[in-house]
Amino acid sequence: MAQYFDFVIIGNSAAGLQALRTLRKHDRSRTIAIIDREDCPAYSRVLTPYYVGGHIDRAGLDIVAQTFYQQLGVTTLFGQSAVAIDPDGPYVELADGSKIGFGKLLLATGAEARTLNISSERTTVLRHAADAEKLITLLKGAKAVTAIGAGLVSLPLLSHAEKGMEKHLVVGSKRIFSRVVDAETAAILEKSLLEKGLQLFKGNDVNQINEGARLTLSLQSGEQLQTDLLIVGKGVTPNIQLAVEAGLQTNEGVCIDRFCRSSHPDIFVAGDAAEGADFNCGEATIQGNWMTAVEQGENAALNMLGYRVEYEGSLKNNITEIFGIDVAAVGYCQDDAPVAMLHYNALTERFRKVFLDEQQRVIGATMIGETNDAGLYYQLVKTRSRFPGQQLLAGTANYAETQLRLAC
Ligand SMILES: Cc1cc2nc3c(=O)[nH]c(=O)nc-3n(C[C@H](O)[C@H](O)[C@H](O)COP(=O)(O)OP(=O)(O)OC[C@H]3O[C@@H](n4cnc5c(N)ncnc54)[C@H](O)[C@@H]3O)c2cc1C
Repeated sequence: MAQYFDFVIIGNSAAGLQALRTLRKHDRSRTIAIIDREDCPAYSRVLTPYYVGGHIDRAGLDIVAQTFYQQLGVTTLFGQSAVAIDPDGPYVELADGSKIGFGKLLLATGAEARTLNISSERTTVLRHAADAEKLITLLKGAKAVTAIGAGLVSLPLLSHAEKGMEKHLVVGSKRIFSRVVDAETAAILEKSLLEKGLQLFKGNDVNQINEGARLTLSLQSGEQLQTDLLIVGKGVTPNIQLAVEAGLQTNEGVCIDRFCRSSHPDIFVAGDAAEGADFNCGEATIQGNWMTAVEQGENAALNMLGYRVEYEGSLKNNITEIFGIDVAAVGYCQDDAPVAMLHYNALTERFRKVFLDEQQRVIGATMIGETNDAGLYYQLVKTRSRFPGQQLLAGTANYAETQLRLAC
């Protein structure tokens, strides 16, 4: 065995980075290696639409500096792919054939964007910085841009593309954000987006792409759409191949217990590759958000260190800006929630909806127009708090005062 580390992390993003920070916060002496096939310090995927839109430069994506890893005394194996795990070795095998022995392993391998069966040079996904670079090139001189799939990738990307550009969105479902928010929130948001000039094709799909000076998209509805590029935002596929081949229990993601541990006692999993309990319903799920990846990364690291710390479960947590409108969805925000309370201020166009369970405890909230309280609602859900009152719904409550009442 060429090299051995007490802790090995595969994946240098939200989950891996938080695990690294937690391991070092509690232990300065044990050896750590972090592997990633991308050859750069950790950066924010969440900010890539802002980079594509020219609001920040490439350095603006970086979460840590190159020197960060050295300062923590961590060995970086960047630009290297892990191709196999032998849980009994135990070691990780890299693409160059080298073997990295480990005491405990964290799989923080995340996910890849789903692509279309039909493709074109002018079609792209957005998951990695390299995808963002391709998009920047494709957008140069473009007069029309089309995205397929209404989620956290397509909508922010369309909204950050140049103002004068024609923008089309093709969505499979009958409404946008169908997996994230209730019908009412989606309808209000949709109305705002249409007013901002977005052309929406709902209950539709792209059947064919014809190349030419411009792309001609043949939609399922029979309509034809002229565009200069197509962005595919049809969700993600978790990177579980290593786990499958290593014989770990997998479903859509790698199955984890309440301690972010896989079916092997020395292998932990966190982030978009992990399938673990949802905070509200307890069902195994992949939330696919940055906050969950960070929380699971921290929990996995604590358990890798030998503390026995239970993770309370993951929550939806989407806070973003779409066509200049702040939007947030925290926790469970679907139409079948037992209680829903609505506040809408027509003057400020500030929309807020809070979802409660049978015991009047907050299980989720959606916000349009202003999202300052999103963190507070996250906290209300996680502490299974009863709804503190109408004042909070209207957004007039004093934040510190509400926190104080929660603490009591
Ligand atoms: C455009 C976009 C916008 C988003 N917006 C939001 C948002 O507004 N809010 C939100 O909460 N979330 C958002 N997300 C989702 C969020 O970015 C993810 O949930 C988060 O990045 C998951 O982190 P992770 O650490 O689990 O995995 P990832 O970020 O996917 O990182 C996994 C890492 O593992 C590496 N890797 C994988 N396999 C191997 C291997 N075999 N060998 C070596 N390295 C490997 C990859 O190179 C990658 O660097 C967005 C994502 C995108 C793409």
